[in-house]
Amino acid sequence: MSYDRSHTGAWREKELSLRQVMEKYPEVSPFVIIKTDAQRRGVEYADRALAAVDPDIHLTKVRSDYSNKEDLTPVSLMMRDGTSICTSVDVGGNTSSGRDPYLVDVVDGKVVLVDENRVIEEVSYWEKPDFHEKETSRGTPMWHVVSVRPQRLCIHPHQHCDYWKTPGHGCKFCAMSAVYHSGNKPELLDVRDIVESVAEAIKEPGRNVNIFLTGGTLCGGENFLDDEVNYYEEILGGITKLFGGRRFPSQLISTAFSFEQLRRLYDNTGLTSYTADIEVLNKDLFAWICPGKAATIGYDEWKERLCRAVEIFGKGNVNTGLVVGVEFATPNGFENEDEALESILAEADELSSCGVGVVGCVWHVSPVSIFKKQISPGLEYYVRLAKGFDRIRRKYGINVDMDNYRRCGNHPDTDLGRI
Ligand code: SF4
Repeated sequence: MSYDRSHTGAWREKELSLRQVMEKYPEVSPFVIIKTDAQRRGVEYADRALAAVDPDIHLTKVRSDYSNKEDLTPVSLMMRDGTSICTSVDVGGNTSSGRDPYLVDVVDGKVVLVDENRVIEEVSYWEKPDFHEKETSRGTPMWHVVSVRPQRLCIHPHQHCDYWKTPGHGCKFCAMSAVYHSGNKPELLDVRDIVESVAEAIKEPGRNVNIFLTGGTLCGGENFLDDEVNYYEEILGGITKLFGGRRFPSQLISTAFSFEQLRRLYDNTGLTSYTADIEVLNKDLFAWICPGKAATIGYDEWKERLCRAVEIFGKGNVNTGLVVGVEFATPNGFENEDEALESILAEADELSSCGVGVVGCVWHVSPVSIFKKQISPGLEYYVRLAKGFDRIRRKYGINVDMDNYRRCGNHPDTDLGRI
C-alpha cells in the first residue's frame, strides 16, 4: 500500500474515537457511525482478507468515472444491516485522509474491520453480478460499461469532465481527470454498448432496485449543456424501451440543467429522479472549490434550478449532494465546526423548504486531487451533520428512497431514514 503515514501524527488524541462517538450519540445506529468512519479513513486489506476473496464470486474489477481497477482486492464492503461501505483504493494510493485506515482482516473465520488490533464489526465483500464477464455485440466487456453496487446498476457515460479542460475550472476535491488520464478508458461510452449491457444486467432476478447514471459535464451544444442533455436523452431513451416505454427506478446525477432541458429529459425518457450536486453549501466556498460550476452556472442559479426541478420530478425525487468536509479546506474554509454546522444546515433548510433533499458524501480525500494535502474533519462532525440533514428531511416530509441504503449506499445520513 502506498498510504503516506507521515502526516498521521497524533490524530487520535485530537478527536473523539469511534467508541466515544458511539457512546455520545446512542440514538445513531453504530452501523452508520462505523460506515462513516471507514469511508472517511479508508481501508487496507490484510493478506488473510485478500485470501478470502474469490474472484468468481466477489466484485474486484470496476471501471467507472472515479475508478479503473483490475486487481484482486474487493471493490467494497457490506455490513450486517445490509448497508454498504463505499470505499475503494484510488488511483494514486489509498485515501490521504490524514488518519490510519481500518484494516480488513479475517478473525475466527469471519471477515472483519479491525482498528488498533480490536475487531470493530463483521463485514462482507460485494458480489459480482451475472453479466459481469460478458461482452456486448461490439466486443466491449460489459464491466467496462456498467459498474455495480450490491443492488444498483451504475453507468458513467462521460468519463472525463469538460471543466477540467479549462485551466482552473476543475473542482478541487475531484479525481476524475487524473483517473481518466491514468488509464485507457474511452471518454464517451457507446450508447449501444450501454443499452445492451443494461438489457443483460436486468435479466438477473432479485438483484437490482435502481439504474443510476452520472458522468462529467459536457458544456457544448446549441445551448450550454445541450450536448450532455442530448447524450443522456439518447441513453435513457434506449433503456426506457427495455421497460416498455414506462418509467423505471432510476437516478441521474448531472450538471444543473435548465428547466427546459430537464423537462425534455423527463418527458422523453422514463427517468424518475434527479440530482445536481452543489458539493458545498456556501456561496464563497462554492466559487473557490467548484470554479467551473460557479463561472458557468453560479451558486444562486444552481439552487434555483434544483428547486424548479421539483416542479418536474416531484418532492422526494430531487436532491443535491455535498462532499462533506471540504468546507474546512484551508485556507478559505470554516475554522469552527459549530459555525460550519449552523451555516450549512441553514442553507440545507432553505433548499429543503422547496422540496430539494440534501445528502452528504463523506469526503474521501483523494491523493490525485488538488486538495490531496487537506485533512477531513473529525468523525463527530459527520455524525452531527448527518443528524441535521435527517432532521430537516423529516421536517419537510422529504423521503430518502431515491438515495437510500439500497439504491445508493454512499450517504450515511440517508441510512438514518430507515429508523
Ligand atoms: S463537475 Fe466538478 S466534481 Fe464533477 S466531474 Fe467535473 S470537476 Fe469533477
